[in-house]
Amino acid sequence: MEQALLAWYGEHARDLPWRETRDPYAILVSEFMLQQTQVARVAPRYLAWLERWPTVEALADTSVADVIRQWEGLGYNRRALNLRLAAQHIAGQGWPEDLTELPGVGRYTADAVARFALELDVLPVDTNVRRVLDRTGGRFGPDAAHALMDLGATVCLARIPRCGECPLSERCPSRGRRFPPLRKQSRFEGSFRQRRAQTLRLVTERPRLLDRLDGEAVEALRKDGFLSIHGDLVQLAK
Ligand code: SF4
Repeated sequence: MEQALLAWYGEHARDLPWRETRDPYAILVSEFMLQQTQVARVAPRYLAWLERWPTVEALADTSVADVIRQWEGLGYNRRALNLRLAAQHIAGQGWPEDLTELPGVGRYTADAVARFALELDVLPVDTNVRRVLDRTGGRFGPDAAHALMDLGATVCLARIPRCGECPLSERCPSRGRRFPPLRKQSRFEGSFRQRRAQTLRLVTERPRLLDRLDGEAVEALRKDGFLSIHGDLVQLAK
């Protein structure tokens, strides 16, 4: 199966900027961004981020306010704070042997850096890869990582896979199946997450008076390290 997959990848690989580097920091940035944001939105933001902060040391030296501004529009802002904290950890102590010790780095992100930057013998399994593995029952090695990701993202889709275009269809026991809709994400509209996002957006524009803002959202953002309060004035944390 793997050979058929790699042959398909040779013709259909997605052209993604983070595949042109083996710099662990650049890979880490891309994986943080990709955790909850679509590839097409990430690509230009990834390039802009690296232009502004090309090294771990450069990012480690910057302020919370600057990373929040640079992250704006990508959503789930906590990732920006964790990425900065991870850079500070690496700048101070070097890369840990177990990358999951870094803030915001789980098993998948650690494996992705290990594979794509350090070329270690590990297959990073994200949701796209997991889906292809489960449906085919196939065994694939680390060399197939990017190919599995691309197949899952463009052919072996979550609900209605395009089995007619799939290089694995001859031996796939799931060929032709349809799959129930995924569980819907909880509504953003009207949620506390939305209130937090709106509040953070307002303060990112400029410091605001506390009594003009959503107090609960301000408090939650302050506790999480996004905002600071000086008297009546709320601003981005330094
Ligand atoms: S044959 Fe269909 S279900 Fe099987 S891996 Fe290919 S796209 Fe997915």
